[in-house]
Amino acid sequence: MSSVLDKVYSRSPALIQNIGMTLYGMKLYRREYGRKLRQLLEEFEKHSWYSPEEMREYQDEHLTILIKHCYENVPYYNGVMQAARITPDDIRTLADLPKLPVLTRKQVMENRDDLVARNTGRFDRIIGHTSGTTGSPLRLMWDRQVCLVKTVVDWRQKRMAGLNPGDRIAFFLGRQVVPLRRTKPPFWRHNWILNHLFCSSFHLSPVNVPHYLEKLSKFKPRAIEGYPSTMSILAGYLNQRGETFPLQVVLTSSETLFKTQREAIERAFACKVFDFYGMAERVVFATECEEHCGKHVNTDFGLVEIVGGKQFTSSGKRLGRIIATGLHNYAMPLIRYETNDVTSLESNPCRCGRVLPLMSGVTTKDEDITVTPDGRYISSSILNAVTHHLLSVEESQIVQEDLYHVMMRVVPRPSYNEREEAIIIDSLRQVFGPEVSVTVEIVDSIARTANGKFRWVISKVPLGF
Ligand SMILES: [Zn+2]
Repeated sequence: MSSVLDKVYSRSPALIQNIGMTLYGMKLYRREYGRKLRQLLEEFEKHSWYSPEEMREYQDEHLTILIKHCYENVPYYNGVMQAARITPDDIRTLADLPKLPVLTRKQVMENRDDLVARNTGRFDRIIGHTSGTTGSPLRLMWDRQVCLVKTVVDWRQKRMAGLNPGDRIAFFLGRQVVPLRRTKPPFWRHNWILNHLFCSSFHLSPVNVPHYLEKLSKFKPRAIEGYPSTMSILAGYLNQRGETFPLQVVLTSSETLFKTQREAIERAFACKVFDFYGMAERVVFATECEEHCGKHVNTDFGLVEIVGGKQFTSSGKRLGRIIATGLHNYAMPLIRYETNDVTSLESNPCRCGRVLPLMSGVTTKDEDITVTPDGRYISSSILNAVTHHLLSVEESQIVQEDLYHVMMRVVPRPSYNEREEAIIIDSLRQVFGPEVSVTVEIVDSIARTANGKFRWVISKVPLGF
């Protein structure tokens, strides 16, 4: 929806908003559901069981067509390729890709118009936005095909998790479905066409959680999709009371899912969690399968290179930044797009037998990784393991200002006391080392980012790769 429509929407009564949401659903349905979805989903499900050679053939074929399109129709790439004295014939496989330079977010911002293909019709362009973690908004352009393929790979995972299009699903994502000033339910809106319930992630509080659960009991979803932080709030509430809300599956994405969060969510909803990873740029998508041992990179959606320095994870895997090439967006192709995300690729195939390679379970934005004065990388999941047992902490956030200063914001529970504070400081100093000064700041609440995500760790120290 455009920002004007967003404003109209936010001022309309609930019924109108439900109708608005449903009309939006109809538009989405025509674009991305129906027969086209079923056909393409069937095709993509076959890709998972390709042999490595068949998958490579698929990738090379799509890459060759995309590069030719970029050379002929996208001014930015035409310029880049002319400057590098290469033609489409020079790039035919993933191994040839490094002949082209990496594309940074800054370059996308500066060359936005030149990255749009000249032969895409006005009506085939869908405007998208992403704010990123830096808070610098990026305006993107998708075509219908990439939107459809994105829905297809999304459903490929949902089907692995036992869901089918048409099933009732509740969402707790970044959209402000009801105005922030609202203090009473409903904090949700229906999309009657798709059978989806959109719940606000911005109104979850101890007072409001029971209202949400009551609504969910009436709606009877087979699944809930949300951020790990949001799902943890609902799970924490249920677990504290020893209650369960059985579902077929919980899907999480967009933030690091900590082991403790996964356990709490699985207990509360009596089902498995399927975590996935994607980006608004639509260049990379990675999904968990029923084996839950990492995320399958959907290499028929986008090609992934892991480019790193000499850093290794504690288990000895090479850690690097994800550089991705989306294979399906012809309106604004992003080739070798440098993401902010850091991961490692597993060398062994998954037990499930799918050809899609696995990346390690925890994918962290580099702002989520803190660094010690002696150069060790501390991932947010390690910090989580250090502090998750502190029951007198309602919510917390760790901020590394520089190499020698770490601060933990704490929203305390009534049982919080000086002893707890000493434990926090001591545990963090054990991790970071004695040269690091650790402080605790008591706060009433921790701000979410503009799109409703919770950032548990914020590091202002560059990683050096
Ligand atoms: Zn698998």
